[in-house]
Amino acid sequence: MCGIVGYIGTKKACPILIAGLTRLEYRGYDSAGISTIENNGLSIMKDKGRVSNLSSLKGIDDLEGTIGIAHTRWATHGKPSRENSHPHQDNSKSFSVVHNGIIENYSELKNFLEENGYKFYSQTDTEVIPNLIHYYYEKDSGNDVLRFLKAVRNACSDLRGSFAIEVISSHYPENMIVVRKDSPLVIGTCESEKYISSDIPAILSYTRDFYLLDDLEFVLLANNNARFFDNDLNEFDKKTTNIEWNAAAAEKDGYDDFMLKEIFEQPTAIRETIGSHISSDYDCDFDELNFSKTDLENINKIFIIACGTAMHAGLVGKIAFERLCRIPVEVDIASEFRYRNPIIDEHTLCIFISQSGETADTIAALKLAKSSNATTIAITNVVGSSITREADISVYTHAGPEIAVASTKAYTSQVVLIDLLAIYFAKILNRVDSEYLVDVTKDILSLPKKIEETLNCKNQVYDFAKKIYQEKDIFFLGRGIDETVAKEGSLKLKEISYIHSESYAAGELKHGPIALIENGVTVIGIMTDSSLVKKTISNLQEVITRGAKTLIITSQVIDKDMFDVVITIPESSTFTSPILSIIPLQLLAYYISKEKGLDVDKPRNLAKSVTVE
Ligand code: GLU
Repeated sequence: MCGIVGYIGTKKACPILIAGLTRLEYRGYDSAGISTIENNGLSIMKDKGRVSNLSSLKGIDDLEGTIGIAHTRWATHGKPSRENSHPHQDNSKSFSVVHNGIIENYSELKNFLEENGYKFYSQTDTEVIPNLIHYYYEKDSGNDVLRFLKAVRNACSDLRGSFAIEVISSHYPENMIVVRKDSPLVIGTCESEKYISSDIPAILSYTRDFYLLDDLEFVLLANNNARFFDNDLNEFDKKTTNIEWNAAAAEKDGYDDFMLKEIFEQPTAIRETIGSHISSDYDCDFDELNFSKTDLENINKIFIIACGTAMHAGLVGKIAFERLCRIPVEVDIASEFRYRNPIIDEHTLCIFISQSGETADTIAALKLAKSSNATTIAITNVVGSSITREADISVYTHAGPEIAVASTKAYTSQVVLIDLLAIYFAKILNRVDSEYLVDVTKDILSLPKKIEETLNCKNQVYDFAKKIYQEKDIFFLGRGIDETVAKEGSLKLKEISYIHSESYAAGELKHGPIALIENGVTVIGIMTDSSLVKKTISNLQEVITRGAKTLIITSQVIDKDMFDVVITIPESSTFTSPILSIIPLQLLAYYISKEKGLDVDKPRNLAKSVTVE
């Protein structure tokens, strides 16, 4: 989950590494550190806390090396402290390593190394890696750079778990070795420079040409070349991939926070994601898919599998696929799916959603589905990410880089893409009226404008946020599609405001949770479905009677006097309404977090792209 940056080139590495870490800080911010190759050996500078602590360390500006590695940590083993910060070194201080992931067998490896005289100075799992490299290096007698490569490969053969690592050595002042397994790592390349990162946005301002690494491809880097070796150390050629994102998209662009910028980018993100999937005569198509009617008729079950916000997008997908395709859908939390012995076979379609395409739980679930012969489709925002290399087919949201930890535009883009997929399947299956499909398709095309309209609620939401930011508990209620939005709204609030919140199907409240409603508690009701609005109003009446104050998000004509605040959003179909009704809730979480003086983009304990299980 951490951020990794590396540089090997002709300029001073340190400022480039610090700039990259700053852009990557959303991936982990327990500590930060760098190691460069200086004339007198390897430098190490690291400290607990944010990248700004690192960049103000005494002596950091004196680093002259043109090769270096850097890391922002999201601690898994050992508390955030200077000792546990990366880079870590072997006992002889001739290898520096940064690592993203978890070494599951680190205690066995540590025992082994201790028996061989190695000492450990941190509580991390990572510290075994440089020492193992040293152990294998010392066992070899070669004197070229392949000795370094072999030592890294042999060390990696002993590691269980997930890792993306960068290694530099004082023995090889012109080189760096990088490798990944189940953790992201890319190499940006230009003529005499190589930029390495766990995440593309950190290095987008330098190049658009990237090597996207597969598991256990060992890369031996020099400033002017990258040599690729497989696990048996056979050398092979690798092509670069051109990434279309531009660097400006990864900057704040005048907004106070990335989250606010990303909320306001939703009209564009949705427009881009709809892209060319809808033709002028409202036909919905996917070039990358070629399912026949028989293929789809053979599917008797769909699983949508994801985590967190992406799973909430999946809940909308369930409603869309069931209603438009008449295929039963189950939505699963990825970390649960693989351990519940799910019933999957060649008649099952599994759809996996992950913004980063690197979510460890989702990728593990995907591997399980494939091994049971299911057809697998990945929905992600990142071209070439790990999930796309595992899935049978990948379809992309075009939300652009999402930097704030709390997902906003990625969620709405996922919802629209999954709606489009359901329409495309429905068209082939022909189980619902084609006129109806055209109506839903038209509705999708009208979304960008409707989102712009919805964003006008900003000031109304801000005023409400100022009234409730000190609350301890907030409840979100909705029925049908609106319940899925209640869940996402509640998650957004928890993530960045640290207020305890719960979401419930409105009709379920009276079966227990209503006991929690007392005078002054805030209840947020979402009502966009005309067939359910009366029922939800009755449930809200029940909480008002018990003293709750209410915020309502609705596209329906209702008696506003019953409620404290009503935010009216444009009307749209069941399948697209979450894309509009979530916006006031994203803004509410944002403004509450701001009122509380919290770091909106980097909430405590969280990190973007959860690459550990
Ligand atoms: N497991 C390592 C640690 O706790 C790496 C964590 C990370 O990916 O930041 O130090």
